[in-house]
Amino acid sequence: NAVEMADWQISEAAEENMPTPEQWAEKLGLQSDEMLPMGRLAKVDFLKIIDRLKDRPDGKYIEVTAITPTPLGEGKSTTSVGLMEGLGMRGKNVGGALRQPSGGPTMNVKGTAAGGGNSLLIPMTEFSLGLTGDINDIMNAHNLGMVAMTARMQHERNYNDEQLQRLTGMRRLDIDPTRVEFGWIIDFCAQALRNIVIGLGGRFDGYTMQSKFGIAVGSELMAILAVATDLADLKERINNITVAFDKSGKPVTCGDLEVGNAMAAFMRNTINPTLMCTAEYQPCFVHAGPFANIAVGQSSIIADRVGLKLFDYHVTESGFAADIGFEKFWNVKCRFSGLKPHVSVLTSTIRALKMHGGGPKVVAGKALDDAYTKENLELVEKGCENMVHMIGVIRKAGINPVVCINRFYTDTDAECAIVRKAAEAAGARCAESKHWEKGGEGALEFADAVIEACEEDNDFDFLYPLEMKLRDRVNKIATEVYGADGVDWAPEAAAKAEMLENDPKYADFATMMVKTHLSLSHDPVKKGVPKGWRLPIRDVLIYSGAKFLCPCAGTISLMPGTGSNPAFRRIDVDPATGKVSGLF
Ligand code: ADP
Repeated sequence: NAVEMADWQISEAAEENMPTPEQWAEKLGLQSDEMLPMGRLAKVDFLKIIDRLKDRPDGKYIEVTAITPTPLGEGKSTTSVGLMEGLGMRGKNVGGALRQPSGGPTMNVKGTAAGGGNSLLIPMTEFSLGLTGDINDIMNAHNLGMVAMTARMQHERNYNDEQLQRLTGMRRLDIDPTRVEFGWIIDFCAQALRNIVIGLGGRFDGYTMQSKFGIAVGSELMAILAVATDLADLKERINNITVAFDKSGKPVTCGDLEVGNAMAAFMRNTINPTLMCTAEYQPCFVHAGPFANIAVGQSSIIADRVGLKLFDYHVTESGFAADIGFEKFWNVKCRFSGLKPHVSVLTSTIRALKMHGGGPKVVAGKALDDAYTKENLELVEKGCENMVHMIGVIRKAGINPVVCINRFYTDTDAECAIVRKAAEAAGARCAESKHWEKGGEGALEFADAVIEACEEDNDFDFLYPLEMKLRDRVNKIATEVYGADGVDWAPEAAAKAEMLENDPKYADFATMMVKTHLSLSHDPVKKGVPKGWRLPIRDVLIYSGAKFLCPCAGTISLMPGTGSNPAFRRIDVDPATGKVSGLF
């Protein structure tokens, strides 16, 4: 009973019958050398599988996104898992791909990102606490790049050209310490590390300069993992990462530092997705990372490719709301992969719609009154405009979405009827789902709506052509997706944009927006559909390995902060059994 049991207890019960890697190989028809067992989990050798099944047609490609979320999370992962369970209950060969959660939110507000209730990814503890090590490998590889750069800067300062050549055989890179793009990463919300000074001490203690930490899942290496096609591509992209500019304005890359190959070596295992499953044993890959606000925030192209070969229905989640998660799925991920989605699911919850309709704030994970658990038709009605806007965003991509009302047991029929009416009036399909409470059994109406929608043709197309210049693209995204009146560029950002627009090297780079997920605008407190505002851009990050240019809107930081009532206070491990509690 999901209402009475904690998620970790539901996971523990389901784990008793969880297939072993050998049993998975048999169920999925995989050959023994295609499974790479890691304890009771396994990665899969995606290249071997894709190659063996290259003539098999792809399954249906289903993307899951949402309305603008509240700080609590609105159940996209729960809904993705619920959809897999519902399709499974209908006898379909279904699977999916989700992202590996970050230690930041796990220890801060969320507890886990494995879904919840009976729509849960198992084993939940492994999933929540490091899984098969991809994020650790990314951190090591990324920080090795910083070690290489900072050591190089010290040696170049301490030696003249002749000594440098004689002692190391290296040429001078002449990095401009005021134009360093790269930073360190850690996978926690560590606001104290946003702006730091490194290299304090003497001549042999590094190079003194300002530096920064970002959260690991938002790093360029995670972005590369999300879009890479194989290890060779990963290696090439890592070598192309711009770590800084030299004093003449030329980019300095990981390749120039001769560290890119070693970084790729650290990431060799990350290229293969990890196989997990739902609490009802539908297979699900976990690959790449979350944070569609500051990162691409998509499960990987590799995981989708292998899932589409293995499953008739492949469910992938793109994180946060349709203005950012779906927009990146649409214009970045699908452009890179060449894959075309059959349908999108727009997850909606009564509690988030109430917040958009003017409901009370959520502070430290708690609402200030019972507006979100007691019937309030007026708030729901007003809040529906956010959902209708998101339906419009998805329709702009040529897809008619299925709105899923992810029902909480406190939601009333009258509240849901309002949402259904608004969704259908906007031309979308709508289904209620009680997957959290009942698993696949509760998701049958939802699964049927998705099956039906998958049979329809769509006119999927990108928002802008690659020939469009960076600032025009940002203007189009801001006005047509976010609903802004226009874009205001800070002078340094405009200068950087001009430099990038004039350099043909960046012409085919994707535009990967950095913007809060908590509002359609750049201001997280503006709910609903904000009107009469302009999008401020303060900087453009250059990810030349991932091939992204990332315009940063408003004040959003690449390193989130830990709040005053963090989840880690409630997480514990039993020394006698090693069991972890408190991940919800
Ligand atoms: P998101 O992917 O949108 O961040 P999650 O799927 O992680 O959200 O869900 C956030 C939290 O809300 C989880 O603790 C989950 O158990 C809970 N939740 C999601 N859907 C429901 C529901 N229908 N009823 C009760 N709790 C839910």
